[in-house]
Amino acid sequence: MAARTKIRESISVEAARERLKAASLRCTSSRIAILQLLSRSDQPLSHSDVAELLRDSGFDPSTAYRALVELADAGLLIRLDIGDQIRRYEFKPVPLKSSAAKQVHDDQEHPHFVCLDCGHVTCLSDVSIQIPKSHSVGQVTEILLRGHCANCL
Ligand SMILES: [Zn+2]
Ligand SMILES: [Zn+2]
Repeated sequence: MAARTKIRESISVEAARERLKAASLRCTSSRIAILQLLSRSDQPLSHSDVAELLRDSGFDPSTAYRALVELADAGLLIRLDIGDQIRRYEFKPVPLKSSAAKQVHDDQEHPHFVCLDCGHVTCLSDVSIQIPKSHSVGQVTEILLRGHCANCL
């Protein structure tokens, strides 16, 4: 399944370098390319989505995979697990003054909607869910809504 990635404004190479430096990572071209790619995506991307999108820039899938894991381990990406065995990643906004990615993922934590038919995952960036303290919920790590997307209805 090809990612239906909308084109949004990407963070600059300079902003990507700043993030890598802040996380004490070396500024490699694959890491910068992935940060830029995910910052302009309005949906989480799997490893194969990222590999496919970066292939044209000359990165092989194993390089893309390694960079994704390193960036997620360093806290620069959010790992998303929606229970379908596919690990997805999304850009984690960190409070930098001139962040062009702010409009995409305003909040670090937001619910996701997954389509049961096509598997498309949508970020519900402007949706927040409050769970009353009376429930014995310790820590929520993922809020997931399932259903049929507009394309599949
Ligand atoms: Zn669908
Ligand atoms: Zn999201």
